Amino acid sequence: MAIISSKKSAGDGANKKKPDDQAGKALSSQALADGIAMPSRAEQQKVRKAKISAKVKAKIGEEKGGKTDSAKSDPTKTDLLKGEARPTELARHEDGIRPEAINDYIGQKALKEVLSIAIQAAKSRQEPLDHLLLYGPPGLGKTTMALILAQEMEVDCKITTAPALERPRDIAGLLVNMKAGDVLFIDEIHRLSRVTEEILYPAMEDARLDITIGKGQSARTRSIPLQPFTLVGATTKVGALASPLRDRFGLVQRLRFYEIDELTQIVLRTADVLKTEVLPDGAEEIARRARGTPRIANRLLKRVRDYVQVKKLGAISGAIAAEALELFNVDPCGLDWTDRRLLTLMIENFNGGPVGLDTMAASTGEDSQTIEEVYEPYLLQIGYLQRTPRGRVVTPAACRHLGYEVPHNRFFMPDAPLFNLLSPEDSPQDESQNTIQTSKSSEAID
Ligand code: ADP
Repeated sequence: MAIISSKKSAGDGANKKKPDDQAGKALSSQALADGIAMPSRAEQQKVRKAKISAKVKAKIGEEKGGKTDSAKSDPTKTDLLKGEARPTELARHEDGIRPEAINDYIGQKALKEVLSIAIQAAKSRQEPLDHLLLYGPPGLGKTTMALILAQEMEVDCKITTAPALERPRDIAGLLVNMKAGDVLFIDEIHRLSRVTEEILYPAMEDARLDITIGKGQSARTRSIPLQPFTLVGATTKVGALASPLRDRFGLVQRLRFYEIDELTQIVLRTADVLKTEVLPDGAEEIARRARGTPRIANRLLKRVRDYVQVKKLGAISGAIAAEALELFNVDPCGLDWTDRRLLTLMIENFNGGPVGLDTMAASTGEDSQTIEEVYEPYLLQIGYLQRTPRGRVVTPAACRHLGYEVPHNRFFMPDAPLFNLLSPEDSPQDESQNTIQTSKSSEAID
C-alpha cells in the first residue's frame, strides 16, 4: 500500500513539471521583448512556481527513498499502520442515560452473571478479559455492556463499526494503539471485510499483527507484537459471522428482549436521570409499548415528556402516557405504523400468508433487511408472525388485534407468543380449531 501511494505522488509531480517549463519559456520571451531588468509579474510567478516544484520534488524523494528505507528498518513506520479509522469514543453517557456500572444494567440476568464471573476471574489473574461476542436485535444494550465492561476492568474502550474498517490500515492503526487490556468494541461485526478479519485472527489469538509489505516477489511479511486486548463484537446476525471469527470468541452471549417489569425499571431510571416525574403506571404503560427494547422505552419516554411539557400536564400517569403514545402512532402492543402495515398487507393481499420476505419488502416498500432485522423479531416474539419454510404467516392473534376476522388459512398455527404483551381480549382463548388446523398445516409444510 505504501508503494501505491508513492507512485501516485510521483505521477502528480511529473505532471507539475510541464507547466513550470512552459512558464519559464514564456518568461524569457517576455523579458527579451520588454528589455526590463526589474522582476516582472511573470518572473515573480516563475519564482513562486519553482519553489512549489522544489517542494514537490523533495516530497517525492522523501516518499520514494525515505519511506522504503524506514520501512526496512522499522516496519511500524509503514503507511499501513497509520490507521485512518477513528474510533467513535462515545460520551460515556448518551444524555447521561447509559448505565455505567453492571449493577445499574437492568435485566439480562444470565448475561450479567456470566460476565461478572469473567470480570472477577480476569481481574484476579490480572489478565485482559476474554474476547466477547454479543448478539441480539438492536437497542438491547450491547454497546452499553461493552462500555460497562471497560469501566469494570478499569481500561479504555474504543468504539468502532465494521463498515469503518474497510482497509487493512484502518484496523491495524486501531490495534497498534491499544493499551494492555483495553476493550475494542466493533459494532455490526458480521460486516467486516475479509482482509480485516484475517488481520484480526492473529491479533485476537496471539496479540500479533501480521502485515504484508510490498507486492509480488518483493512482498515480505512482518509480525508486530501487540498489547493483549479484549475484542467485544456486536451483531444482529450471528449466523452471518464467518465461523473462524466466531470460534475465536471465548464468550458468546445472546441478549434477549426485556420483560415489561424490567423495562418499567429502565423507564423509571431514565426518568430519574432526565428529572421527569413518572408514576409507576405511567412507566409501565410506556414499557408495554416499547417492544421489549430499552432504546425504544427511552425514546418513548422522551416523546411523552415533550407531550406532558407542552400540554402542562404534570406527572406522567398511565392514562397520559397512553394518550401521548396514541398520538405518536404507537399502539398498546408497541406496534408502529410499519408493523401494522406489514401485517395488514399480509392479511388483505395474501390471506394471511405464507409470504416471502422479498414479496413483503416489495409490497411495503421497506428494505428486506430492515424487515428481517428490525420489524420481524418483535412480531415473532409476541406471536403475531410465524416463519414457515414457505414464507411468513400472520397468526390469528395478529388478525384479532388489527380488527380482522381470522381468515381460513390452512397454514395458520396457534398463537404462541414467547412473552405475553397481548391485552386479555387479544389472548387466544379457544384455540381448539386452530390446533386442528395446525396439525394439517404441519403436514402440508413437511
Ligand atoms: P445496542 O448497542 O444493542 O444497539 P445500546 O447499548 O446502544 O444498544 O442501548 C440503547 C440504549 O438503551 C442506551 O442508551 C441505554 O441507555 C439503554 N439500555 C440498554 N440496555 C439497558 C439496560 N440493561 N439497562 C438500562 N438501560 C439500558
